[in-house]
Amino acid sequence: MSLSVRTYIPNPLRCFKCQRFGHSKTSCRGTLTCARCAEVGHESTDCTSTEKCVNCKEEHTSFSRNCIAWKREKEIISTKIKKQISYPEARKLVNSQTSTPGNSYVSVAKKSFSVPSVQKNPDASAVTSSKPSDSTAKASPPITNLSIPSSPSVAPVSEEALASPDFTDFKLVRNKKI
Ligand SMILES: [Zn+2]
Ligand SMILES: [Zn+2]
Ligand SMILES: [Zn+2]
Repeated sequence: MSLSVRTYIPNPLRCFKCQRFGHSKTSCRGTLTCARCAEVGHESTDCTSTEKCVNCKEEHTSFSRNCIAWKREKEIISTKIKKQISYPEARKLVNSQTSTPGNSYVSVAKKSFSVPSVQKNPDASAVTSSKPSDSTAKASPPITNLSIPSSPSVAPVSEEALASPDFTDFKLVRNKKI
């Protein structure tokens, strides 16, 4: 009946012995690790220690569905099936997309950086090329110089400059003079 394009994505295979993903207990070459506290040498059955994940070191059990490592593993499997590529290829692809948890913010910031500079450049070239005479050709270098200091006035750029140690030194020197 419902033979749609929806593909079944299985949950990540987690080893019940070492808690790592991608293999089963029977083919495990790792050491017995607790699924609850991530300590080696005992099973999670009788464990009452604080929860710690083997795969991401966060405060949850290794079988938690909130685990970032589990979610990434799920994403790898999903990518593997959807793109019909091998597991190592899918893992490489997913890891390159989600290398750090804060990666999404960085990519958003990068987008806001590039937009103002792209918009400014066509304006500057349009002004210089509108009058192709010798007098304006001599006057054009100051125009392009003026356009450069105006671009760091964009908020994200100055935010990054504040974080750099060079800018902090500059501020300190200027305060002493005043
Ligand atoms: Zn294992
Ligand atoms: Zn334990
Ligand atoms: Zn985890």
